[in-house]
Amino acid sequence: MTRTQLSMTQAVVLFGSPGSGKGTQANLLKTCLKVPHISTGDMLREHVREGNSLGVKVASTMQAGSLVRDEVVNHLVEERLAEPDALEGFILDGYPRTRTQAEHLCGWLDGRGIREVVIHLIVDYNVIVARLAGRRQCPRCGTLYNIVSNPPRVAGVCDLDGEKLVVRDDDQESVIRQRLAAYESQSRPLIDFFREKGRRLYEIDASDQSPEALSFQVCRTIQSPEVRQPVSPAVSTNDH
Ligand code: AMP
Repeated sequence: MTRTQLSMTQAVVLFGSPGSGKGTQANLLKTCLKVPHISTGDMLREHVREGNSLGVKVASTMQAGSLVRDEVVNHLVEERLAEPDALEGFILDGYPRTRTQAEHLCGWLDGRGIREVVIHLIVDYNVIVARLAGRRQCPRCGTLYNIVSNPPRVAGVCDLDGEKLVVRDDDQESVIRQRLAAYESQSRPLIDFFREKGRRLYEIDASDQSPEALSFQVCRTIQSPEVRQPVSPAVSTNDH
């Protein structure tokens, strides 16, 4: 079956500031929806780890907390979406982040008759700064922890594989500030873009809830009858 024969491709865009919990939610959501989690940040970090030509090209930009060029990211995402496991759906995390990326994605989706749902995770600025500063990651399996809100069972060690946890380079304080500035100037305006274009946008307050409670709410939104209705170009369900 080709993607164009599917009217019910589950395309989810998790949108929000760095530290809003997109990665955690995507991980919980992929189990519930049975579609892959596609994180541009993880894909780019993988290239950097491999030290290939793309990795070398983007490393310093990422290290500075700035955004990688649109053409690079658009190409990466398009290639990933063409893989068979993404045929029935996908969860995008960290993409789109600029207007050019959003236009590219919307064109790609519209060309295939896929109606995405954008979930905007809204989190208080101070909560975000505290979360990013407390974040630790397993360098082997990528699992994220937070020393305050989601600590590992044994301090400093991954629950899943016992690897010593690290602070990601881009979670250092000065880089956090730059990443938040990039979000404010280049990504936050996409909320208006999604609204203006009549894309389906749902906003969820994600400041105080546990990841599991939030995931329940996100899942319920995505699986609600109004979101699951078949493709209909005339319908705009911009509720918020
Ligand atoms: P993330 O893990 O999503 O916070 O991404 C980490 C870093 O990867 C960002 O600070 C950017 O340098 C880069 N990056 C990830 N996704 C994108 C994107 N959609 N556009 C441009 N740069 C990105």
